[in-house]
Amino acid sequence: MNANKVLVVGAGLMGRGIVHAFAVRGYPVALFDLNREAVDAALADIRRVVGEAVAIGKLTEETAARTLELIAPGTDLVESARGADLVVETASERLTVKIDIIRAIDPVVAPGAIITTNTSALSITEIAAASADPSRVAGMHFFNPVHKMKLVEIIRGIATGDAVVERLKAWSDAIGKTSIVVNEAPGFTTSRMSAMLGNEAMYMLESGVASAEDIDTALRLGLGHPMGPLELGDMTGWDTRLAVLNYLHQSLGEKFRPCPLIAKMVKSGRYGRKVGHGVYKYENGAKVPGSGLRSA
Ligand code: NAD
Repeated sequence: MNANKVLVVGAGLMGRGIVHAFAVRGYPVALFDLNREAVDAALADIRRVVGEAVAIGKLTEETAARTLELIAPGTDLVESARGADLVVETASERLTVKIDIIRAIDPVVAPGAIITTNTSALSITEIAAASADPSRVAGMHFFNPVHKMKLVEIIRGIATGDAVVERLKAWSDAIGKTSIVVNEAPGFTTSRMSAMLGNEAMYMLESGVASAEDIDTALRLGLGHPMGPLELGDMTGWDTRLAVLNYLHQSLGEKFRPCPLIAKMVKSGRYGRKVGHGVYKYENGAKVPGSGLRSA
C-alpha cells in the first residue's frame, strides 16, 4: 500500500471514477460529498466496477478487496481532508461551489499538499485564488468513464508551481494514465473541442438535418470517433455540458452559444445516462434502440 492519501470532493459521476482510479492502485482515498445518498451510490457503483473487473479476470479477489478497504467515505469535509497529500475537487460545475470548497480545505490540508480541480472548463487561476498558496493549485482533468479513459489533462493556472506540475505528472503515471500539460484557457484542449462538437450535433438535430441515431452513426463510422457526439453528451450529462457551454460562450464568444435544445433537455430533467434519459433512453444501463430524440 502507498502512504500518500488522496481526498476526492464530490461523489458524482466523476468522483466515483476518480476514487476507484487511485484506490485500485493502492492509495488510501477519502471520498467526501455533502449528500450521503451520493456517497452511498458512489460506493455501490465502485463495487460494481470492481466486481465486473474480477469477473473478467482483470483484477484478483485480493486486489478488489483491498481497493474497497482503501476507500473512506464521509460527509464531514474537515475530517475527510485531514492528512491528504493530494486533493481532487470534482463537485458540481459551478465556480462558487469550487471556490467555497478550496476555501474550506485550504487551511486543513498540509502546506505541501497539492490541491486540484477536475473542472471541465472553468478558470484554474480564479479557483486557485481561493487558496492562501495558489502555487499549489492546478487543474487535474479526468475523463468519463475514468477506469477506461487514459488521459489526464494537467492545467496550469497563472501561479501554478513547476514542481506541482511535475508531481501531478508523477501522480498520473502512478495511476496508469497519460498526462498532457495545458496552459489555462477556457475548456482547455478537450472540453473546448467536445463541447463544440456536441453543440453542433444538437443544432443539427434541432433543425432536422438527420436523426440522433444517424448523426451518431455518421461520426462513428464516417469520421472514426469511438462514440457519437449525442451519445457522448448523454454520458457526460447535459447539465454539465450546458454549464460548460455557457462558460465557453461567455469567455470565447458566439461560436459557443448553447443550442436551445440543450437548455430544453436540462429543464425537462433529461440529463443523460445518469438519470436513464437524455437524447436516448436507457434501461439497465443499455441504450434503448430507436429511442433517439426527434427534433423539437
Ligand atoms: P455530478 O452532477 O454527477 O456530481 C456532482 C457531485 O457534487 C454531486 O454528488 C453533488 O452532491 C456534489 N456536490 C455539490 N456541491 C458540493 C460541495 N459543496 N461539496 C461536496 N460535494 C458537492 O457531476 P460530475 O459529472 O461528476 O462532474 C463533477 C465535475 O467534474 C464538474 O466540475 C464537471 O465539469 C467535471 N467533469 C465532468 C465530466 C463528465 O463527463 N461528466 C468529465 C470531466 C470533468
